[in-house]
Amino acid sequence: MTAQHIINSLEFARKSLEIRDTIAHSDLQRAKDLLTPETESLDWRLSGEISADKKARLHLSLTGNVAVPCQRCLEPMMIALSISSEFILVKDESEIPPEEDDVKDHDYLVAEAEMDVLQLVEDEILLALPYAPKHEIKDCAVKAEVNERKAPNPFAVLRDFKVVKS
Ligand SMILES: [Zn+2]
Repeated sequence: MTAQHIINSLEFARKSLEIRDTIAHSDLQRAKDLLTPETESLDWRLSGEISADKKARLHLSLTGNVAVPCQRCLEPMMIALSISSEFILVKDESEIPPEEDDVKDHDYLVAEAEMDVLQLVEDEILLALPYAPKHEIKDCAVKAEVNERKAPNPFAVLRDFKVVKS
């Protein structure tokens, strides 16, 4: 069982703290059923800082291989995750700038005295999973089936037609 990580997010940033850990497939609450058992443990690292612009920030990075069922053949398909996310902590939602001012390289999190880090880790995993993953056709188990379903060569039909006519 992966240890829980509850942090005071603002304090974590102020003290420039860092946590490194791994999370196993079986410990993912929401993503678990979307992934197949070939999923490996994922390494993650959370660090905090007060940046030069005096903003409290959290940085989350996560790497590892997950497996999802291919939507064509249902066989597992490995996906290498390499996530790097930046969060700016705000006191409440009113401090989050409107969408149009938003820059893509970071997100906002409302500061919490008891923030569950694994929830954040899992949010990032869910966001990174493809919506309808499919193998490349050359790697997919239904490749043979697709080939069989191909229409017959039109010239072959023509050849048969000629035979019938003569
Ligand atoms: Zn497939």
